[in-house]
Formats: sequence, C-alpha cells, structure tokens
Amino acid sequence: MRRGTNLPRMAGFNQTVILDVVRRADAGLSRAQLARRTGLSAQTVTNATRRLLEQGLVREEGETSRPGPGRPGTLLHLDARGRYAIGVHLDPAVMTFVVLDLAGNPVAQLQEPTPVPDQPERVVAGLVRAIEELVDSSGIDRTLILGVGIATPGPIDVEQGVVMDPPHLPGWHGVPLRDAVAEGTGLPVILDKDTIAAASAHLWNPGVHRSTDFMFFYLGTGVAMSLVIRDDVVRGSSGNAGEAGHFVVDPGGETCECGKRGCLGAVLRAETLVNQGVEAGVISHPGSLSDPREIDTAFSALCAAADAGDTRAVSVLEVAGRRLGMAAVVITDLCDLDTVIVGGPLWSRMEPHAMPALEKHVAAHQVPGGAHSIAVLTSPLGPQVGAVGAGCLVLGQAFTPRPSDLMLDA
Ligand SMILES: [Zn+2]
Repeated sequence: MRRGTNLPRMAGFNQTVILDVVRRADAGLSRAQLARRTGLSAQTVTNATRRLLEQGLVREEGETSRPGPGRPGTLLHLDARGRYAIGVHLDPAVMTFVVLDLAGNPVAQLQEPTPVPDQPERVVAGLVRAIEELVDSSGIDRTLILGVGIATPGPIDVEQGVVMDPPHLPGWHGVPLRDAVAEGTGLPVILDKDTIAAASAHLWNPGVHRSTDFMFFYLGTGVAMSLVIRDDVVRGSSGNAGEAGHFVVDPGGETCECGKRGCLGAVLRAETLVNQGVEAGVISHPGSLSDPREIDTAFSALCAAADAGDTRAVSVLEVAGRRLGMAAVVITDLCDLDTVIVGGPLWSRMEPHAMPALEKHVAAHQVPGGAHSIAVLTSPLGPQVGAVGAGCLVLGQAFTPRPSDLMLDA
C-alpha cells in the first residue's frame, strides 16, 4: 500500500526516474548509460539531466572508462549535499534526531530524554525546539531540507498523521503530531510507525546486507517486528503491521496485559528484564516502574553488570535472546525469509549477551527442505535506526516517481 504525501515534489517524473537510477550507481553513469537503463530517449535524458544539474541534485565528475563507439561520456553522480531530510524517532524514554544527506548518510545528530512523556504538548514543543537546534548547529541551508519524517510507537492513523493510543505513551490519545510539528517548524512532515521506519532504513542502505526478504526485530520500549518481502516493507491494511508483542514464547512466563502468559512483548520488555535483574540480585529496584526513563536507567545497569561478567545478569539476557530466536524461526519459515536483523535501543545494550543465544537457536533450526540458511545480524544503525529510517521515508518519497508528475513533465 502506497500512501499520498504532503511533501513537495523534488523533480518531475522522468527526472525522478533518472535520479533514482543515478543514486543506485556508485560509480556514476553517462547519459548514454542512463538512456539504456531507463528506456528513455537520449533527448529526454539530456533535458532531464540538465534540470537535475540546475537543481543541484546531480553533479558531473569523470568519464566512462571504456566508451564504446563515439566520445567518452561524462559521468553523472548523485549530489549528496543537494538536499537533506530530517529523521525523528520519538520513543517514550528518548528522542533521537538525525539529518540525512540525499544519499541517506547521517550528517548531524542529536539525542535527548523525552520531556514528560505523558504530556503530548510538552513533547511536541521539545521536539520542535530540538529540530530547530539541530538544523542551526548543522549549518545546512534550510531551503534544502525536503521535510521531516517522524517515527513513533503505533498504533497511528497514517492518513491523518495522528498518534492513536500507544500503550507505551500514556496520555496520548489521538494526538495530531504530524500537523503540530509541521506548524511548529514550517517544514513538511510525514508520520509513520517506528518499526516500519526502521525496516525502511535497511532497505535504503543496501550496503548493510543483500537480502530482499528479511525480518527486523525492533526492541525498544515495546517489541515489534517488521517484514520486508521483495524489497518492500509490509504495511498492512492500516499501516500498522508488525505488532509481534503477543506471540507466545514462554507459556509459563510473565503475564501479559492481554491476559495470556509469556507473550514476546511481556517477556522481552525492559521492565520484565529489569524485574528479573532485581530478583536475581543484580540491580536494585528502580524508583518507579511507570517511568520509562527510570526503567531505561535500570536496564543499562543490568547490561553493564553482564558486561562486567555477572553471570546472573548474563543469564537474564541469554534467555531473552533464546526467546527472540523462538519467535524468529516461526516467522522465517512462514515467509521464507533468509535474514533476521535485530536492532533498537534495548538491543544495542543487550546484544553482546543475547546475540549468541539467538544465533544458536536459529542455527539449530531446520529450514524446511534445507532450502537456505538464515543469517542473523545486528543492525549497524544502532539506537539511531528509527530516526534514520524516518529520514529514509522522506528520501524514499522524494525518489519515488509519482504518476501525477507525468502531467507536468515535458
Ligand atoms: Zn499478550
């Protein structure tokens, strides 16, 4: 399902087609090569590339090494500094901001504790202020910013840009976040679910891995999962796909808010792992179990104890890794996936201890028919994965040719 957008058009249809092909060619392409790859006429390519050069979206550098008949062609490359996108990840404990260049590389970043998570208007004000700070400190020309992508916990109303009732953001009921941030910053804004944004980050940056069919586990305040099938993020009928929280991985385990025991979300949430660390005598009880920031601090202490060699802490995180593996293999079989990527703010800290158990569980699993093996990777984007993904959603829209632009493209 593709949705409409309120982002301004960056270029016409043919220009966008050409820009996307140029973006994917690391070594650059000549106009003749572009004509062959896009099926556009030489004249159309010449006209479109002239406009792209004028707009500062591509640059010329070098020549084709083996030119074939005729003159060598000048190579066109994406001008990564030609436009920028801002990515924001709103997590109940922390807000992460990045500025991405047109190639998707972070050029500036900022992280702040989420101010009073249960008061949406204060969060919105803090978010707008942080965006302004980041833009000012990065020194980039504001007119080159395509827009702001915001990733939030679901469920959301994608069309209206509204955050509905996220279980981890108490006090948030139907908050029109997209329009509030657009009004505060004067920039176009798109809103998407955090897991969908995070999966998009891995699609945009294919250097990360080569899989076209993979799953991404997001371990933040909640547990979620996104599926990428044939290079497309599965969004579902309302744009809220990926709720993996009620997948039972431990029938005798922790009670979930849904009434069942041992749901993945209940077993892997920071609060549960912190409680297990308290019961094992590794860490002291956090002051409040309802404040995501206090739980986050206690979770860091648990991981630090494991890093320091406390076997009780290591065991808590190992079991968590195994539970993740139990869910992973069911889904990889169901969708015939060959890669499992794990990331998010919790995973960055628990990975050294949870990853070996996850890998072991997946390696011991027999893929039906032995069709292929399953790779298990940690997202190289670290705790920034949601923010980078939100920025990639903005870039993705800018690079997607829109049929409506055909009317305007000469
Ligand atoms: Zn449940």
